[in-house]
Amino acid sequence: MLKVCKFGGTSMADAAAIKKVKEIISGDESRRYIVVSAPGKRNKDDIKITDTLYKCYNDLAEKGSCKERFALIRERFLKIAADLGIKSDFKAVLDATEREIAEKKSADFTASRGEYLSARIMAEYLDFEFVDAEDIVRFDSQGRLNEDYTDDKVKTRLARIERAVIPGFYGRDSQGNIKTFSRGGSDITGSIIARGVNADIYENWTDVSGFLVCDPRIVPGAETIRQITYKELRELSYMGASVLHAEAIFPVMKVKIPINIRNTFKPDDPGTMIVPNEQYKSTNDEIITGIAGKKNFTVIFIEKSMMNSEVGFVRRVLSVIEHHGLCIEHVPSGIDTLSIVLESEQLKDGVLSDIVNEIRENVSPDYVHVIENISLIATVGHGMARRKGVAATLFTALANAGINIAMIDQGSSELNIIIGVANSDYEKCIKAIHDAFVVQNK
Ligand code: ADP
Ligand code: ASP
Ligand code: MG
Repeated sequence: MLKVCKFGGTSMADAAAIKKVKEIISGDESRRYIVVSAPGKRNKDDIKITDTLYKCYNDLAEKGSCKERFALIRERFLKIAADLGIKSDFKAVLDATEREIAEKKSADFTASRGEYLSARIMAEYLDFEFVDAEDIVRFDSQGRLNEDYTDDKVKTRLARIERAVIPGFYGRDSQGNIKTFSRGGSDITGSIIARGVNADIYENWTDVSGFLVCDPRIVPGAETIRQITYKELRELSYMGASVLHAEAIFPVMKVKIPINIRNTFKPDDPGTMIVPNEQYKSTNDEIITGIAGKKNFTVIFIEKSMMNSEVGFVRRVLSVIEHHGLCIEHVPSGIDTLSIVLESEQLKDGVLSDIVNEIRENVSPDYVHVIENISLIATVGHGMARRKGVAATLFTALANAGINIAMIDQGSSELNIIIGVANSDYEKCIKAIHDAFVVQNK
């Protein structure tokens, strides 16, 4: 048995948490490769090391120095090192890091140092070898993970090492510079390592006892999902359930390594198992698996009678969006209607009115209408495909809660139903869906 374990920011936040991490690792011989995040928040009002590092970079760019801000980084790491009884001269490591940050003047390099320092401390504390992610994780010239190169490097480098600690979140780009994944990316590093060493399981240790049916900040006491498929998880994490980075399943999915989400602070809880379809053991009583959502979308609603018989209609609409270089979130359609859902963030500085005008010119619609400040909420679950009346239950629950639905999109896989509601109804909507399916089902 071989396990790769990733410990997130809260698990690395201070010496007390790191001691718990060590107990978890020492408790199981098969936990041999450890990926760590930078220290996160110690309490609600604390600041993550990574956030402070990005601010260091801004200070450097704006004021030419980040000395004052870096003192915060220094203080936190020195305290952790002292509390853990680290013997090596960590002050010298921090001095060198501060110098390199000033020399390189790169946002990615600066941000990556949280994971680097965290892994250096952890390797010494556990007496494991430190293997730098810059030597094994590689991006291509487009900025995407170079999977083959990385996989090969992980395999050859770790084959000779019995136990190692690897910093998450970063690697090198095709020019040899340090590059990070997007925020939360240590989850991806863990998955890459698990695949490279062909682990039996990828344990992702965080501060909740698994994936909950919905965000606990919206529905306090939401239940833990015991088992979920990769595809369901992808839908939920893409739609904002932030426990695991939305891209973290890809490396392990291809080789069918299950992911187990676990709680560092409640290590006996079984957590959530994320498995391929064929390993999923249905208990047959769950209709939905989870609910997740994201705020701030814009819907462009286009109506034209007989649009279906007009060759190239959809292409001409989509080419307008493509011409502006924007990504489309969803394209729900009816017989005479087509909606384009976009992230509002992309539509600043008059882009939206340009798009609407160009659509008018390109396809002469009967009607174009824009709805802003929309939240998308996904109700996800394999169980929905087997049941009758799921949509009816969902829409009745929302009607009873007085929520107006601006858009509906049911994926062809019958794995999810996505609805658009006003941002102001976001929390109310998630609660209503939760009550209709999870509470009523008891
Ligand atoms: P880590 O630092 O360990 O990577 P994250 O903060 O990235 O941890 O992810 C864990 C957090 O995700 C939880 O503390 C919780 O607030 C949040 N969260 C959002 N949606 C969910 C959900 N559906 N189930 C569990 N946690 C969720
Ligand atoms: N430390 C990085 C972040 O805060 C990466 C991670 O924690 O996964 O985004
Ligand atoms: Mg995370």
